[in-house]
Amino acid sequence: MAEWDYEVFWKETLNQIHSELGEQDFSVWFVNLEYLRATENSIILAVPSIFYQDQIKVRYQNLIETSLKDLTGKDLTIIFEVVPRKKTENSPRRNETPAAGAENSGFVSGSKDTAGKTPEKKTRHPQLREDYIFDKYVIGENNSFAANAAIAISRNPGTAYNPFLIYGGVGLGKTHLMQAIGNYVHEDTDSKIIYITAENFLNEYVQGISENKMTAFKNKFRYTDVLLIDDIHFFQDKPGIQEELFHTFNTLLDAKKQLVFTCDRPVSELKKISERLMSRFEQCLKVDLQPPKYETRCAILKSTVESQGAVVPDEVIDLIGKNISSNVRDLISALNKLIAYTRLMGKPITIENAQHQLRDVFASPRQANMSIELIQRVTAEYFSLSPNDLKGKKRTQNIVFPRQLAMYIAREITEYSTTELGQAFGGRDHTTVMHSCQKIEEQIRSDPTMDATIESLKRLIKENGSKT
Ligand code: ADP
Ligand code: MG
Repeated sequence: MAEWDYEVFWKETLNQIHSELGEQDFSVWFVNLEYLRATENSIILAVPSIFYQDQIKVRYQNLIETSLKDLTGKDLTIIFEVVPRKKTENSPRRNETPAAGAENSGFVSGSKDTAGKTPEKKTRHPQLREDYIFDKYVIGENNSFAANAAIAISRNPGTAYNPFLIYGGVGLGKTHLMQAIGNYVHEDTDSKIIYITAENFLNEYVQGISENKMTAFKNKFRYTDVLLIDDIHFFQDKPGIQEELFHTFNTLLDAKKQLVFTCDRPVSELKKISERLMSRFEQCLKVDLQPPKYETRCAILKSTVESQGAVVPDEVIDLIGKNISSNVRDLISALNKLIAYTRLMGKPITIENAQHQLRDVFASPRQANMSIELIQRVTAEYFSLSPNDLKGKKRTQNIVFPRQLAMYIAREITEYSTTELGQAFGGRDHTTVMHSCQKIEEQIRSDPTMDATIESLKRLIKENGSKT
């Protein structure tokens, strides 16, 4: 019987409660809680004393359970167990815990190799890239929840985090993370794992129909232990394959088999997906990958340098890390381009040849596009919102004003047309952008503090642009 492992949820809940409560209350009440174990419907936490248990029950049990429900969609009960301090410290740890999270921008620890098990070399999985493993996945605050959930899945597929959906923009590591699950399970067990892109899933389906091999197709996908389907946005507007996937989904889930999907956008933004398939996607544990921050970008670059056996000065890492911020694939390929060029020319890598070789890459429109994201991120942070709030549809005043302000600043300091800006702000019409700018201009005329607000935001954007 598989163990239930909800520790990743617990950690993320702690993160969220931490930012909600602030340092003081958090350190009084939450630092002493320890995750012990879980059952299907509950999480058991250690508390140091009965007094502590009674207090925390009254004060925070509700908050904890509600936060967990938001995160997991499940009704998990919190059960406290009094474990006096000393004993907790000495008690044997549960099997290796997933990597901690934000502060960790190095390699994931606790993978098979680092855990000290002698790795038994197994033949590689035919559909999985050998280098898409957890050991090569750098964790930063942009991806720690997603990565830790993926690690937990790979240890206990088909249980706590099923079905699982990873979403995020192009080149942010969705395929890598999904395949890392596959590679881990493949290495660890004899489970049957299928990795397939949505496009090939459709192709095989069409082939199955035309060659009268539908039974073979169905059997292939319905009798597997782990099914990884990459880029499910491809299924939009393709009703036949959606129907097939819906049934595959149900069969596998009933049999407690692990399902993992990736998608380039939030599920709610998928269009032309049948209602019932949509409700299945909604049911997934959904984790998003954000663009990495500067520190994580540098960690990714350094790990690439290491695996290439190249010598790259820190100032070059810094240059690339600062200039390419939207996409990990572009980040790595800029570095690889530089390494290849200097090897070919027999030259060492220096800041000068890096600047020269990569000037086109740095100037590409995709990188320039980052400036809008940067404006959104900094503005959102300034108002304690998330960038998605600015792109979203909510019309409450606390969001509308920051959104209008971000559009106004973007209009001022970038070269984008109002159409492009509207696009970047959640697919709005260009007239909305114009209207927003007018609103802010009116406020500048009537509110003497507006100028200062705008100036300090612009300064923050500039600082973040050269640093993050
Ligand atoms: P996506 O599927 O989201 O488009 P990929 O998984 O193909 O992105 O990732 C693009 C490239 O970036 C791959 O070479 C992948 O190994 C690398 N990559 C992405 N995220 C990370 C990370 N956190 N650490 C190391 N490499 C990463
Ligand atoms: Mg991909």
